[in-house]
Amino acid sequence: MPTETFEFQVEARQLLQLMIHSVYSNKDVFLRELVSNASDALDKLRLAKLRDDSLDADVSDLHIELETDPDARTLTVRDNGIGMSYDEVGQLIGTIANSGTAEFLRELREAQDTAGAEGLIGQFGVGFYSGFMVADEVTLLTRRAGEEQGTRWTSRGEGTYTLERVDDAPQGTSVTLHLKPADPDNQLHDYTSVWKIKEIVKRYSDFITWPVRLVGERGDGGEAAEPETLNSMKALWARSRDEVSEDEYHELYKHISHDWRDPLETIQLQAEGTFEYQALLFLPSHAPHDLFTRDFKRGVQLYVKRVFIMDDCEELLPPYLRFVKGVVDAQDLSLNVSREILQQDRHIRMMQRRLTKKVLSSVRSMMTDDAERYATFWREFGTVLKEGLVTDSDNRDAILAVSSFATTHGEDGTVTLKQYVERMRDGQDDIYYITGESRESIDNSPHMEAFRERGIEVLLLTDPVDEVWVDAVGEYEGKRLRSIAKGEIDLGAQDDGKAGEDREKQAEEYAGLLGWLREQLDEDVKEVRLSTRLTVSPACLVADANDLTPALESMYRAMGQ
Ligand code: ADP
Ligand code: MG
Repeated sequence: MPTETFEFQVEARQLLQLMIHSVYSNKDVFLRELVSNASDALDKLRLAKLRDDSLDADVSDLHIELETDPDARTLTVRDNGIGMSYDEVGQLIGTIANSGTAEFLRELREAQDTAGAEGLIGQFGVGFYSGFMVADEVTLLTRRAGEEQGTRWTSRGEGTYTLERVDDAPQGTSVTLHLKPADPDNQLHDYTSVWKIKEIVKRYSDFITWPVRLVGERGDGGEAAEPETLNSMKALWARSRDEVSEDEYHELYKHISHDWRDPLETIQLQAEGTFEYQALLFLPSHAPHDLFTRDFKRGVQLYVKRVFIMDDCEELLPPYLRFVKGVVDAQDLSLNVSREILQQDRHIRMMQRRLTKKVLSSVRSMMTDDAERYATFWREFGTVLKEGLVTDSDNRDAILAVSSFATTHGEDGTVTLKQYVERMRDGQDDIYYITGESRESIDNSPHMEAFRERGIEVLLLTDPVDEVWVDAVGEYEGKRLRSIAKGEIDLGAQDDGKAGEDREKQAEEYAGLLGWLREQLDEDVKEVRLSTRLTVSPACLVADANDLTPALESMYRAMGQ
């Protein structure tokens, strides 16, 4: 069979360069990545076979196998999972599809200095390519389940790779790392050492649900000793919280989310009774950049009795919690459960309700126990969570309780509606807010003048969703939410009585001018009136209380309505 040579995509080459001149201080994680891929491949095969029993694949002993050869200085990670076709190898391994990685490379280019770059690298996953941190050549041999022919992929990571069709490849994938020369001063990093391999698997991959076996050293006759299973395969979600270390939870999070950073919060729930399930959910520490795109992948996996069933199970949490990652393991569902069934299942709906409440109450605890962590959470995910104020009226109060907003009273700080109401001035009946594109544009708005003058607090709302939820929510603890840019706002009650008298007098005085202005602007405005809202600017445009605000108007116009 001819061997064909291909060039890596530009981004892929860039990433490989980073790996080769490696930058990660902790190189051990390459093995975690390869084992994680192997585990995914086994999950996929198991599912494929479940859906189509006629698939010509052996699923009787799905496992991951590690083999070291100190003389040849190789380490092989083998799985008998789904495998890849010839075309898939080119697509999946030769290019960078993972959007997080693409984002990482963009940020890396922007962070010109190397110190900044190193900081960034530690935060992003590079999956399969991380093998090049420890190897100067990588060979991958794979055969897709159900296909006859296999594929061999080889690369030194230097711009090109080769592909070759192979007739006798076993089902699944094996990745062989030709390790870089050993560092005589640093035995700790010898990845042919059985001790080292055991340690890494235990640390990073213990919870993997498939056996990770270490092939014993071969005797003189070439026969291998009994393989040893290195991982406990214990499902972390089924264990009580005090049995599991924070690090173990974090490793599971990284496996599920493909994020290299630690999560912000771990949430566990074990439901007993007629419909039993266990959930282990994570709040990430950073919002992915594609959170607001249509094809954003949710991150909660569904398991049934410890068996992986599906990724990004949409039915488990509402869309406004789509950033939550984790595992839900249900005892009483069929292994054959489909999305259609899930959508109709009463138990799943109950589960969603309970999980939603649990996530919201965890955010609530974070808010009271750890203000800094809550601030991170809100900065990253507040915009998404506020969608729930519009779409989930059942949980509206719970969402409002964990929502906070920028305010005129406090430079960087935010305020909750509860705090706002507590510090409202005497005589103030409403909660005032203003919406706009940025804090700066709001600060310069003439609508702000009278409020600033009187020291009345105004919430500064700058997310597009803000315009929608304020209408949906309407009021909080009997206080109306009022836009200071809409309708007539009488701040008279908050001045002393004399101001009111003055204004009446003024209205008479200016009746002529107002009438003349109304005639001149007839086409463009509904009404011209004296206002208490300005102190410096001579005039401002105000929408009727029921009119659309300018931002909403342009949003609807953009949507073609
Ligand atoms: P990620 O796992 O985040 O998708 P990787 O770089 O680790 O990124 O892997 C890229 C892709 O290559 C995987 O999504 C998968 O489709 C494919 N792949 C990698 N390893 C294997 C394997 N052992 N078996 C089957 N497919 C694999
Ligand atoms: Mg991976």
